[in-house]
Amino acid sequence: MALFDKFKKLADARAALMATEPCPLGTRIDEVFSPTQGRIGDQEVILAGTNNYLGLTFNSDCIAAAHHALDAEGSGTTGSRLANGNYSGHQALEIELARFFERPSAIVFSTGYMANLGLIGTLVGPGDTVVLDADCHASIYDACRLAGVDVIRFRHNDPRDLDKRLGRLGDKIDSTLIIVEGIYSMLGDRAPLKEIVAVKRQHGGYLVVDEAHSMGVMGEHGRGLAEAEGVEADVDFVVGTFSKSLGAIGGFAVSHHRELDTVRLASRPYIFTASPSPATIASVRVALDIVANRPALRHQLWSNAERLYAGLAHAGYELGPQSGPVTAALLDSPQQAVAFWHALLEHGVYVNLVLPPATPGGRALVRVSVSAAHDTTQIDRIIEAFTTLKPMLSSSAKP
Ligand code: PMP
Repeated sequence: MALFDKFKKLADARAALMATEPCPLGTRIDEVFSPTQGRIGDQEVILAGTNNYLGLTFNSDCIAAAHHALDAEGSGTTGSRLANGNYSGHQALEIELARFFERPSAIVFSTGYMANLGLIGTLVGPGDTVVLDADCHASIYDACRLAGVDVIRFRHNDPRDLDKRLGRLGDKIDSTLIIVEGIYSMLGDRAPLKEIVAVKRQHGGYLVVDEAHSMGVMGEHGRGLAEAEGVEADVDFVVGTFSKSLGAIGGFAVSHHRELDTVRLASRPYIFTASPSPATIASVRVALDIVANRPALRHQLWSNAERLYAGLAHAGYELGPQSGPVTAALLDSPQQAVAFWHALLEHGVYVNLVLPPATPGGRALVRVSVSAAHDTTQIDRIIEAFTTLKPMLSSSAKP
């Protein structure tokens, strides 16, 4: 088979669905005016399809710190942490992350994707086992591939299924990682973490929680779902990202196992890539401080999330099970979802189109995300657009 032939089927399927501009996959955002406003083509839109949960991308203190670092230390480190790209800012951020999570060890990675690769892909290897929630993010699956570890999936959010699968492991439990997420990124639902922890206590193993979508969003201090559920002591490793509530790019892992620090000596996704730029690190350090000290932002996010969820439910949409920073509206078919996405854009609302196979249960959906930076007028405009467009989804109007 010639090199590119294997992509043809994918490209044809995409072309059939995506004939109309702008393309809903990889949409080009032409201008960004604020955390919640932008322009796509000729259309000014409310941004309701980002992960900018606290609206910190335009925070003036984060930006000032980034400017300062850019001027003082330059545009990039040009090297990896283990070779020539380990700046004082990286280490300061690790100390601050460890303090924030009240754990002794933290490692900063260049993205959240690489945090999963770099932690999971190094902790376990051939002969070890990973038992993961079936809906885990692609980076977790890819980490398992990198590790060459045995992978067992348990049914999404089903502690009884986890219990059954851990029960079959025997002695292997001692080198087993159990992996779940705090908030799942497609439907916005949360892991039943208390129950999962109870199962782990019974069997053993190590628990990893990816708090990418829940850090800064849940818990009294913004540490995520484990904090909100009061089970932090039972979570061995927290993985997270700087690309969502912290409004930048990068990732991290923290742990109460001091030995985490030694992982960096063997972690290929840590060693063989350049470290985050000084400007990025500087803005993340300020953002972390804001997460720790301005809980009002979190409260505003939840108030917006609940208003949106109630409004879309009232308009008759089938939604994910819980309100939160991500609300999914489930639709009947990819064709319907594409048409609906375009119609929302024409009404000045930008959301994410998510199509199977990337969706849980193979459903087409639009993913709406809120930010603490949305005001109630914007939330109401989003609800209004969904309400106005609901008739196009009735069965008689199906494409
Ligand atoms: N984990 C989860 C659960 C995610 O949703 C994502 C990104 N969507 C990542 C990891 C990767 O994070 P990043 O974008 O920072 O690479």
